[in-house]
Amino acid sequence: MYGHIFELTRKHLESLITAKFGAQSAQTRANRIFEGLYGRGKVPEWQPQFPEQTHLGTLEYLRSGYSFELPMTVSRCETSAMDGSSKLVMTLKDGLEIETVLIPERGRLTQCLSTQVGCAQGCRFCQTGRMGLLRSLTVSEIVGQVVVAELWRRTQQGVVAEYDRATNLVFMGMGEPLDNLQSVLDAIEIFTDTQGLQFSHNKITVSTVGLLPQLDTLLSSAKTCLALSLHSPFDAERSKVMPVNVRHPVADVIALLRSRAESYGRPYMIQYTLLKNVNDTADHAHALAQLLAGLKVKINLIPLNEHEGAAFRRPDLSRLWQFRDILKEHGHVVTVRLSKGRDIAAACGQLIKSGKPAAGLSSDQPM
Ligand code: SAH
Ligand code: SF4
Repeated sequence: MYGHIFELTRKHLESLITAKFGAQSAQTRANRIFEGLYGRGKVPEWQPQFPEQTHLGTLEYLRSGYSFELPMTVSRCETSAMDGSSKLVMTLKDGLEIETVLIPERGRLTQCLSTQVGCAQGCRFCQTGRMGLLRSLTVSEIVGQVVVAELWRRTQQGVVAEYDRATNLVFMGMGEPLDNLQSVLDAIEIFTDTQGLQFSHNKITVSTVGLLPQLDTLLSSAKTCLALSLHSPFDAERSKVMPVNVRHPVADVIALLRSRAESYGRPYMIQYTLLKNVNDTADHAHALAQLLAGLKVKINLIPLNEHEGAAFRRPDLSRLWQFRDILKEHGHVVTVRLSKGRDIAAACGQLIKSGKPAAGLSSDQPM
């Protein structure tokens, strides 16, 4: 076996077929195989149904080298009574577990994807960071999360079942996507393929702490949306909360975003997790506004999702609104994410194998 069939982009598939059977009709054969796997925007029933005209020799050749079995199974699922989000725990072939979350909201069904088992970045407020890195996911394990979640979703009743399919994908689950960049880029190519799942690039968001060389590559090669996890405008403080800042200081990351703003075109999303009495003061809000002045951004404020053993607390709502108002006074666009799925520990930063719901939190407040 060379690997899993979900590892292959359509271009890879076509070059494999060309190498074996010659260039004639290789493109058509690759299209048919892709259609059978991902079916024009919808995941077909599993096992995949290949169109009748599929060249059987091609299929046989691929089956001899690549696995067509689903790369993971859903081992547990929990659905939030608060908002209908579903957290799926998936077991990989080597027994490790990852999580993916389906979040229904105002006509959109967003799927939050993991890119690694654990994470090497060690942000101090994040539960995944506390696991350390066990390993990165393969392309097939990233693509598989969408296919397997879709097959699972069809067996369900309730809010998630009301959708035709997932409408948006966010790389905001376990792991740092830019520490697994090539797999993430290949998975994006498969997600956006016009013969495959047909997601448009602007429905896909990659969230990162800002690893400089990889961020540069991402901005020049992918057309997806970018979310930068910023969390403090002050260099020394950001280094304490997010060790990555020592290697890639926030000023350098913002300078890169500025230099790419024109070709990027859209507003960058800035994620800011509010930690009580750490980064939630008026001074922070003013400094953050100034750091981002003149850059087209949408700032997403996320009050910390507390978890057991966390060294930080969730700020009071009055602080949150004050922070938001200061940013707005500076002319910034701000949204507040009172995280989805908190009662099932499916919110950001709570995606770990044995995550337990945080106790005693106030319920979501209207904005
Ligand atoms: N590694 C990437 C993507 C996964 S984390 C990144 O850090 O950007 C997705 C988002 O959730 C990040 O902005 C992260 O800072 C935030 N986050 C992590 N733990 C959190 C927690 N306990 N409460 C609120 N947000 C958290
Ligand atoms: Fe890793 Fe993101 Fe968690 Fe930081 S916040 S430890 S980068 S998953």
